[in-house]
Amino acid sequence: MLDYRLFKEINDLFTSGQYRKARHLLMEVQSRSIALRDEISMLRARLKTLEDAAFLNENLQCQNGFYWLFTNNLRQGPFCPHCYESEGGLIRLERSHKTLCCPYCHATYPGMANEEFQEGDAVRHARIIPFAR
Ligand SMILES: [Zn+2]
Repeated sequence: MLDYRLFKEINDLFTSGQYRKARHLLMEVQSRSIALRDEISMLRARLKTLEDAAFLNENLQCQNGFYWLFTNNLRQGPFCPHCYESEGGLIRLERSHKTLCCPYCHATYPGMANEEFQEGDAVRHARIIPFAR
């Protein structure tokens, strides 16, 4: 934590002509500032991770054994249950004739009935969905 009293102390040291002590204290403040900046960066990354987890918790649903992402009244998926449950990855399954296949872990699943796929559920290419807000 940065102690703001140090700024006054540094100023007092400069005013009284104790330049060497002032400079030493200034270097200490610089070091603390760098440490604080690093801590802020780490905390921002943790916050982003938690926000992403909260977003998925609110918008990701498991239906009939597959994961679907619901955003802005749009359903995206299905996503590979193995990849999500083991690594947290949202990998869209590809449809291959009557099966669904994960392009990442290569797990295959019996295909779902056509009526379970709606317009917009096309699974032509696997891709990782960014966390839209
Ligand atoms: Zn997978």
